[in-house]
Amino acid sequence: MSRDFAYSGNPAHIVFGEGKSATVGEWVETLGCSRALVLSTPQQKADAEMLAARLGPFAAGVFAGAVMHTPVDVTEKAMDVVRQTNADCVVSLGGGSTTGLGKAIALRTDLPQIVIPTTYAGSEVTPILGQTEGGRKTTVRHASILPEVVIYDASLTLGLPAGMSVTSGLNAMAHAVEALYAQDRNPISTLMAVEGLRAFKTSLPGIVETPRAPDLRADALYGAWLCGTVLGTVGMALHHKICHTLGGTFDTPHADTHAIMLPHTAGYNAIAVPELLAPVAQIFGGSVGGGLWDFAKGIGAPLALKDLGLSETDLNRAAEIATENPYWNPRPIDRKSIRALLQDAWEGRRPE
Ligand code: NAD
Repeated sequence: MSRDFAYSGNPAHIVFGEGKSATVGEWVETLGCSRALVLSTPQQKADAEMLAARLGPFAAGVFAGAVMHTPVDVTEKAMDVVRQTNADCVVSLGGGSTTGLGKAIALRTDLPQIVIPTTYAGSEVTPILGQTEGGRKTTVRHASILPEVVIYDASLTLGLPAGMSVTSGLNAMAHAVEALYAQDRNPISTLMAVEGLRAFKTSLPGIVETPRAPDLRADALYGAWLCGTVLGTVGMALHHKICHTLGGTFDTPHADTHAIMLPHTAGYNAIAVPELLAPVAQIFGGSVGGGLWDFAKGIGAPLALKDLGLSETDLNRAAEIATENPYWNPRPIDRKSIRALLQDAWEGRRPE
């Protein structure tokens, strides 16, 4: 086995622990800041206001307008609030959508970010931002996008509905599966990816049974941190490309799309790199694609693209877009094979 590799880690303070979100004020001070703008989605506004109250004099205000895919017009509204309140840092409380807004502000201002994640999307540990304007989603990678502090507090995730916990967890697992065969993988990314998959294998079924179990929630957040970290350090391939295409062109929900596609893309690539994906088969049992599909089915994940409102004729266009620009993947891709893979995912068929 070749031992050639390059490794760089993303510099960030990671804090884990139940109740640790109470230390957010200390982190604002540690960053040399005193006026934090708290960000959230409209659905999590009450939690954001509670956090702002807890920050007391360190809170500059609350902007509760974050939405999926970071539209530039929403960022501009938030930027007005940044200027009006003279904010010197942002605190993002929520999932990938809220984290995305904080990143978009940081990209424009270089303000430091503290993120308190409440889903498993993993965006909080990546220097990557996807933003949309005029119906087009573009991806930017820049050091200023990486949040400075991440506080993982399981007590804030107890109310994440079981269904969203499942799809969000499978979204995170997809980062780890693609990291295992990434061209620029390294020993650390592989260790983290395997550990992240194990964390979800044990925590997600328990969360479905007992959503308010703090220890299981902490295990899932631990998995989210590991899987998000590898997304931020190594390159992704077919799986992320297809999900980006489906979400960007057909507006399918982000986490559900990842959840449905993962067994199919992993099964497709396992034919080319069985040894690199062997840990997936070991953890989930059976074949790579079949084992992931059985696991997803067992925890009640959505299994068929047709249930997301995609029509069968959309699959032709999706296969075309997903293959029109060449990109690296461990197994060669062509329109016909991707169209067949999409058909299986549309029907919700178990990959062999
Ligand atoms: P989300 O942030 O859109 O959250 C979905 C909904 O769940 C929102 O209404 C939110 O308020 C609510 N919610 C979040 N946490 C909750 C909780 N604990 N209890 C109750 N409700 C809760 O969903 P997401 O899947 O976390 O994020 C998706 C977005 O993140 C997409 O735009 C995607 O592109 C982006 N993303 C980016 C990266 C990256 O590295 N750039 C990585 C992963 C995802």
